[in-house]
Amino acid sequence: MRQPIVSVMGHVDHGKTTLLDYIRGSVVARGEAGLITQHIGASEVPLEYIMNICAPLLEKMRLDIKIPGLLFIDTPGHEAFTTLRKRGGAIADIAVLVVDINEGMQPQTIESVTLLKELKTPFLVAVTKIDKVPGWIPSKGCQFSVSWEGQPRSVRDDFETKFYRIVGQLAQQGIESDRYDRVQDFTKKVCMVPVSALTGEGIADLLMMLSGLAQKYLTERLYVTEGEGKGTVLEVKDFRGLGTTIDVILYDGEIMTGDWLVIGIKDILVTRIRAILKPNPMKEMRVEKVFIPVKSAFAAAGIKIAAPGLDKVIAGSPLRASRSESRVEAIKEEIREEVSEVEIATERDGVLLKADTLGGLEALIKTLGGLGLAIRRADIGELTRQDVMDIRNVPKPLVFAFNVRVPDDIAEIASDNKVKIFSSDIIYRLIEEYQQWEKDAAKRKEDDLLASVSRPARFRILPGYVFRQSKPAIVGVEVMKGVIRTGRKVLKGGKILGEIRELQASGENISEAKAGEKVAVSIEGGVVGRNVSEGDELDVFVPEEDLKVLSRLRHRLRGDELELLDSRTARAEQGRR
Ligand code: GDP
Repeated sequence: MRQPIVSVMGHVDHGKTTLLDYIRGSVVARGEAGLITQHIGASEVPLEYIMNICAPLLEKMRLDIKIPGLLFIDTPGHEAFTTLRKRGGAIADIAVLVVDINEGMQPQTIESVTLLKELKTPFLVAVTKIDKVPGWIPSKGCQFSVSWEGQPRSVRDDFETKFYRIVGQLAQQGIESDRYDRVQDFTKKVCMVPVSALTGEGIADLLMMLSGLAQKYLTERLYVTEGEGKGTVLEVKDFRGLGTTIDVILYDGEIMTGDWLVIGIKDILVTRIRAILKPNPMKEMRVEKVFIPVKSAFAAAGIKIAAPGLDKVIAGSPLRASRSESRVEAIKEEIREEVSEVEIATERDGVLLKADTLGGLEALIKTLGGLGLAIRRADIGELTRQDVMDIRNVPKPLVFAFNVRVPDDIAEIASDNKVKIFSSDIIYRLIEEYQQWEKDAAKRKEDDLLASVSRPARFRILPGYVFRQSKPAIVGVEVMKGVIRTGRKVLKGGKILGEIRELQASGENISEAKAGEKVAVSIEGGVVGRNVSEGDELDVFVPEEDLKVLSRLRHRLRGDELELLDSRTARAEQGRR
C-alpha cells in the first residue's frame, strides 16, 4: 500500500504555504532525518511520525493506521491540483481545503470546492489561524482538544460563531460538514479540523484525520500495482549538466533507469530514462550536488527524470514507464485514449479555450459549462494565428486563455478581427473579466438602443425670442424636462407640429440640450403666429414602439423623463376609459 497523495487548496493568503511549511518543518525539526524520504515537488510525512504525534488521538479514535505515510504535494493551490491529473480524476487522493476562520469562504475556496466535487476528490477542511480569534490562549503544538479546554467561554463563543458561519457557507455549496470530533458518519459529513500553522495547534489532529480517512475510505486506490510506473509531469526544468529534466509525481508502479518512457498529450514522446534523481539529503554540505541518482523509485514518489528529448514535454502530461520496448505502442494507445477522455460537446458558434495542461483545460471546460457557455474548440498550448482565424467568424468570437501565453502580435491580430481574449492564470479572474465584459457589452447595446429612439422631453418657447417666423421657424426655447435632440418630431396639444432640425447654443450647432438649458431651435413645419406662439409648451413626440423600448430601459432614463413618460401613460389610460 502506498502513501496517499495530499493536495492543499484554498484562497490566497488563507495559510496554505504556512501550513505545509509547518508540517514539513515539524518533521524535520524532530531530527528524525532517517525517517524522511526525500522527494521532489512533494514532502512525505512518514507513518512513524504520525504514530508518534498522534498516538493518544489514534487510540481515542480507535484507528489502526497501515498506510506508510502521507505524501503532500509541495505546491499548494488549484494549479498543481489541476496539472496533476490522471485518467478519471485528480492524482491527489485526498485534499486539505484551507479556510481562514476569520475570513470564511472566499472566491478561490468556492472554486476549490467546485473542482474537488467535479474530480470526486475527498477532502477535509483545515480551519486555519485559530490563534487569531480574539483572546485565544495558545498552547503550542497541542492537540485541538487540549487548546479548546483552555479557552475562556467568550473566546469559545466567538470561535463557534465564526466556525459555524463556515459550516453554513459550505452548506450553500452543497457540502455538509462539522467539527471533526462531532462527526458521526464520515461518509456523510466533511470533517473540519481547527488548526494554527503558527502555534501548531490542531496539526496532529489534521494529520490523524487525513491518515484515518485515507486508511478507511481510500484503501483500494492505495494498492500499488507492481508493474509499469505511472505518473504525471509536474514541471519541466532546465538543469545544468542534465539538460531538460522533468519533475514527476509517480502514483502507481515502479520506474527504473533505462526504462522506456512514453510521455505526452498531443505529440507523444518516446524516450529512455537516463537518470532518476532524488534530492540529496546532505545538500547543505555540498551545494553543487543537489540531486543524487537512484536506480529506481516506487509510487508514491516525487522524482526528477533526465532523458533525451524532454524539452518538448509540457506540465500535466501523463507519463508511463516500461521495461520492454514492445509495450510502447500499446501504451501510446492508452495515453491517446486517456487524453481523448476530456470530452466536450462542441458547438460551431461556441468559444475557444486554450490552457497549458490537460487538467487546466478540463477545469476551464467545467467552469465555463457551469456558466452555460458553448465551446467551439478546446486546445492545449499558446494562442496562435490559426486559432484567431478560426474563431473570428463566430457571431461572438471569444477566447479564454488559461495559463498560456498570448503573444503580442497574436493579440493584435485578434483585436483587428474583433476577437475578444480573456487571459489569466486564475480561472475565477477569467470568469470575472468575462462577466464584466458581458455587463459592459449589455450596457453598450442599451446605449445604442437609447440613442436610436425618441425620448420624452418638454420645452417652452421664450417670449421675445422669435428669430424667424417660418420655413423653418427659429425660436429661443428653454428645455423644461428631459433632453431635446435634433431630428425629433414635436407635438403641440397632442398633434404633430413639425420636426426639430437644428439646435444652437452661443451660435454653435449642438445635437442635444438638457432641462434647464436655453437654446435656439429651428422647427421645420412650425409657423409662428399660425400653429405656434411665444410662450407655448411643446413636447417631443415618442412613437409607440419607442415607448416600448423606453419602458424596458426605465432604469437608464432621467427622473424628469420618467415623469413625462408616466404622465403620458396615465393620460392614455384615462383616454381609454
Ligand atoms: P497562502 O497564500 O494560502 O499560501 O498563505 P500563506 O501561507 O502565505 O499565509 C498568508 C499569511 O497568513 C502569512 O503572513 C502567514 O504568516 C499568515 N498565517 C498563515 N497561517 C497562519 C496561522 O495559522 N495563524 C496566523 N496568525 N497567521 C497565519
